[in-house]
Amino acid sequence: MKLMFYGAAREVTGSCHGVEVNGRKTLVDCGLQQGSENAFGQNFQFHPGEIDKVVLTHAHIDHSGRLPLLVKQGFKGKIYATEPTCRLLEIMLRDSAHIQELEAGWRNRKGRRSGDDTSGPLYTIADAEKVFPLLIPCHYNKIIDIDGGAKIRFADAGHLLGSSYVEMWLTEGSRTKKVVFSGDIGVPDHPMICDPTFIKEADYVVMESTYGNRKRSPSFDTVTELAKVIEMTLSKGGNVVCPAFAIGRTQDLLYYIREIKERNLAPSVPDFPVFLDSPLATAATKIYSREMLGYLDEEAADLISRGIQPLSFEGLRYIETSDESKQLNDDRTPKVIISSSGMCDAGRIRHHLKHNLWRQECAVVFTGFQAQGTLGRIIVDDLMPGVTLFGEEIAIRCRIFNFRSMSAHADMDGLLEWIGAFEDKPECVFVVHGEEEICKSFANQLIVRGHRAVAPKFTSIYDLLDNETVFEGRELKRRSELKQHGRRESAVYQRLMLAGTRLIEVITRNREGANKDLAKFADQIDALSNKWDR
Ligand SMILES: [Zn+2]
Repeated sequence: MKLMFYGAAREVTGSCHGVEVNGRKTLVDCGLQQGSENAFGQNFQFHPGEIDKVVLTHAHIDHSGRLPLLVKQGFKGKIYATEPTCRLLEIMLRDSAHIQELEAGWRNRKGRRSGDDTSGPLYTIADAEKVFPLLIPCHYNKIIDIDGGAKIRFADAGHLLGSSYVEMWLTEGSRTKKVVFSGDIGVPDHPMICDPTFIKEADYVVMESTYGNRKRSPSFDTVTELAKVIEMTLSKGGNVVCPAFAIGRTQDLLYYIREIKERNLAPSVPDFPVFLDSPLATAATKIYSREMLGYLDEEAADLISRGIQPLSFEGLRYIETSDESKQLNDDRTPKVIISSSGMCDAGRIRHHLKHNLWRQECAVVFTGFQAQGTLGRIIVDDLMPGVTLFGEEIAIRCRIFNFRSMSAHADMDGLLEWIGAFEDKPECVFVVHGEEEICKSFANQLIVRGHRAVAPKFTSIYDLLDNETVFEGRELKRRSELKQHGRRESAVYQRLMLAGTRLIEVITRNREGANKDLAKFADQIDALSNKWDR
């Protein structure tokens, strides 16, 4: 019975964990790397055909975005997720595939001109559509037997519509261990979403630590501050540009803007126009409706029962085509533009940044976490005086705001409160989904509080019955470090590394084998090593 860390180990994106029980493997989350800093890129550290089933904590792309690749490479099992997660995934994965196709086309046009080989997209829309028939929609708080000695239960994580913690019971012979996967831990009082729940028991916990070193300012009133930025900017003739995750942050912004208009909090520009320039966000917004009533919080349910659409207001326009999107930049009427992607590494937001970053009278408002290596992180951390967009140098002269209060991730106190709710301390807490230093420092915070905690390395393997690490895992190499040394890992080398990871897993599976067999296996590996150690 083992736990494997295939992603988001000492980094924020690419969540992907594995459990093995009775020789069958289940993945928990299958997220896309964003920011592309991990030199292993989007490659899986296992053979997708070996995976029996997948359980998803929520629909965000850093937890779900490699599902089409998994299916393309041979996965055929079931994918368990809550009902809203399944609904959101259908639009989310199609959109992600569309971006992959666009980017591959762009890369290939550029590659052909420079004489480089061309390469296909990571996956296509047709690949994404093969995921949907595998989805099994589930309800919160019901124990589901997923076969092979594993049972699961989803609990509300208060992070996104349908987001969940996964409680997993694994049974081998007469022994059962319970592992809880936190996914992303939400915050109380978030618009439309119920407050995060607490879990009381687990043998092991795999928990996120995105904001494991930060505390939110309790006095920050998001609605008032957002109203101030809108009024100040629009009254000077500028635009407010909001890069926002199409699912989650976009709906939060719409919810707050409806309130700003209803309470007339920007009185000098009361009828300000708002453009939602993301067909994906528009499709997602439609899902946050009456049919999701069972998953929305009391306040949202109350608005709906009074006939008020929580995400709709006078002056809101939806942009569909990319021509309409480009025309927005020719129209000088001051406006609010909400567009994705939230970390600015793809999508229409990049056009809006190109046309607004250099204008002093404009403002850019960030509302979510910006991963290392993304354009959003470069802007928000003020790392450069300008950025290159579509081959053009663009100066950063507008005002930049970072509304951390809008994050749907628990801060340090929230994370400590969540883990503190376990009545008995788990045998071990694995801290993941945070930048390397944050994973380590948050694990230390837990140790100080009497927990046994580690920040597992990428590809590490833990034996859940023996409660010990059986493979330490690898140091994460970053692309920028490899580039500094003038090297790039080739696809064939990555294949060799994958074969190495598989060998380690095969070794751990033979742990109980006869001494004679183990000796023979060791001799064969030694012979192979002697041959290649040159
Ligand atoms: Zn998330």
